[in-house]
Amino acid sequence: MVSNKFSRRSFIKTGSLAAGVLALNPALSSLAAISSKPGKKLGIALVGLGYYSFGQLAPALQHTNNCYLAGIVTGTPAKAVEWSKRYNIPQKNIYNYQNFDEIAHNPDIDIVYVVLPVFMHKEFTIRAAKAGKHVICEKPMALNAKECEEMIAVCKKENRMLSIGYRLHFEPHTMEVMRLGQQHIFGKVTKIDTGNGFTYGGDPNAWRLKKALAGGGGLMDMGIYSIQGTRYTLGQEPIAVKATQEKTKPELFKEVDETVFWELEFPGGFKTTGKSSYNNNWSYLKVEEENGKFELGPAFGYGGIDGSVNGKQMPFPQIIQQAAQMDDFANCVTQNKPTRVPGEEGLKDMKVVDAIYKSLDSGKWEKIG
Ligand code: NAD
Repeated sequence: MVSNKFSRRSFIKTGSLAAGVLALNPALSSLAAISSKPGKKLGIALVGLGYYSFGQLAPALQHTNNCYLAGIVTGTPAKAVEWSKRYNIPQKNIYNYQNFDEIAHNPDIDIVYVVLPVFMHKEFTIRAAKAGKHVICEKPMALNAKECEEMIAVCKKENRMLSIGYRLHFEPHTMEVMRLGQQHIFGKVTKIDTGNGFTYGGDPNAWRLKKALAGGGGLMDMGIYSIQGTRYTLGQEPIAVKATQEKTKPELFKEVDETVFWELEFPGGFKTTGKSSYNNNWSYLKVEEENGKFELGPAFGYGGIDGSVNGKQMPFPQIIQQAAQMDDFANCVTQNKPTRVPGEEGLKDMKVVDAIYKSLDSGKWEKIG
């Protein structure tokens, strides 16, 4: 089991990674590159000022080097006043959902970050791209793969970059797992097991529990990380899935899934296991290769990631994942180079999610894509 030593390990900004730490993993040097780019900071407007914007993204934007919190889009006038004061946001950079399209005429805003309930992701991504802005859209990318395809197509047509809020692609422990898995450092991958979930204790009427607004339950919200974890460890795309589910609180999870278990099949027949839940506190990714093993736990949150390789704790620092993620995207926009987490990455996960729901209905193995 991975021990938890966060109390002894400070969170650091992407700009202050020590050279010694960088030497441990070549992939980490890209974090330093993100933070060292000189020039103008790009303006980000957060759309939707709920839990994630307030608790994570706005604070992270106080630690970014390539972008800053320039604007907000909210349906709640009181939030506009509070945020304007707290973050010194001028009135001209504050929009609501109705007048949002006028953002097209605002040169302060380069990037729109969609942090809304899932059913609004497609609409606001498309409106942002049509307003000439580059877009970051939160996970899960949309209600289903078809919506993701529409979002990608519009952003392409408008020549705007689209990225998904997959912060872990910039997290050192996670990047190490990608390296160990994709480069077969200890031989072929022989086993992957992963789970992500939390025990839902929130509002029983929240959008997260409504199928039309969230698309689904624990699978959409938390399972997307376990699916990603498997995909980025192997560096391959699954071709089929078989899933089952368990519901112990049917009154709470009337419309959406509570706990889902699945097996993914990869080309050549290799199979992995995964699970998601709104009723279990899981966050792990365990990998075995022919001559070694590694794991992350916690594997997917932003309160600290920990991991081990062959029983030895990984030596990486904690970073502000969202700051690294947004800085990298701003850098990609400025340099006109592809993001490592484009819309296509969100689409791949949603194809798996769609097939899992299909398998839950049919009780059979279903093809992905
Ligand atoms: P939230 O419910 O706290 O916030 C949602 C915001 O949308 C609120 O400000 C709300 O007022 C606004 N909104 C506008 N129209 C709405 C409507 N019709 N119904 C409900 N709310 C409406 O949710 P959140 O936790 O901030 O999640 C927002 C997005 O961020 C989701 O896609 C979620 O999956 C994602 N998220 C990502 C992470 C991560 O680690 N990447 C963490 C948390 C949330």
